[in-house]
Amino acid sequence: MVRVMVCGALGRMGREVVKTVVGDDRLQLVAAVDIRADGQDAGAAAGLKTGVTVVRDLTAAIEASHPDVGVDFTQPAAAMANIRTMLAAGVRPVVGTTGLTLGDLDEVGRLCDQTGLPALIAPNFALGAVLMMKLAVEVARYMPQVEIIELHHDQKLDAPSGTALRTAQLIAAVRGELRQGHPEEEEKLAGVRGGTVAGIPVHSVRLPGYVAHQEVIFGGLGQTLTIRHDSISRESFMPGVALACRKITGAHGLVYGLENIM
Ligand code: NAP
Repeated sequence: MVRVMVCGALGRMGREVVKTVVGDDRLQLVAAVDIRADGQDAGAAAGLKTGVTVVRDLTAAIEASHPDVGVDFTQPAAAMANIRTMLAAGVRPVVGTTGLTLGDLDEVGRLCDQTGLPALIAPNFALGAVLMMKLAVEVARYMPQVEIIELHHDQKLDAPSGTALRTAQLIAAVRGELRQGHPEEEEKLAGVRGGTVAGIPVHSVRLPGYVAHQEVIFGGLGQTLTIRHDSISRESFMPGVALACRKITGAHGLVYGLENIM
């Protein structure tokens, strides 16, 4: 049994993680943390009685419950503070929070080396999204001109999504920097061509009704090829989170991306 703590337990993702951990006989929910904690049971939002009360203080939660793993779905600034606290206290972080910078990843890597503990950070825990990224890298070898459109619910804080950034970085690693489009192209409306990663335009849509979606569109002579992934519910991320909780105890250093433990 892996002893699991959930940070951001009252959030959209955190509530789903609580349900998943409670329903998995290889995982045990031992603590739940959220800055909105108000003495409620961690499963209350899902109509479950877990026997674990959500608390605000991460350090106190760790001291009281000795988790093996701490799952974090909070916000970038909170996630970094939580990772530091967890690693210092001997807890292995499994992080889904997006918006972490390359500098943040470097720091987590250093902290893992210093403490001898592993950490897993995954911009996307959905199997289909991981496959979308793998396929995109393969296609980019033959069709290097590409744009990415990611679409998310309108309560998402960071743009672009961690998945869009990761997809662009992975594609850039095989095709390099490439100037796309007409050399004299001009934006008549600031930002209308999106942000770029190594010359790859990335566009973010935020609307109610979406969960998490992405299209990677490749263009070639007289043809286009589109790879699209849709997370139509937050359940899509849960097998990946459960897998990460089970596998992280045997990992070393910082593992970035779910594909590295699949
Ligand atoms: P959310 O509903 O806002 O949930 C975040 C929760 O964490 C909120 O209850 C928030 O409280 C709480 N929180 C903030 N700071 C905290 C702290 N220091 N300690 C403990 N709890 C804290 O957001 P969400 O939709 O669940 O998404 C959470 C993160 O997961 C986002 O970064 C999102 O992009 C990411 N995400 C990742 C994946 C993936 O597969 N990797 C999939 C979906 C989402 P307040 O609201 O009061 O701040």
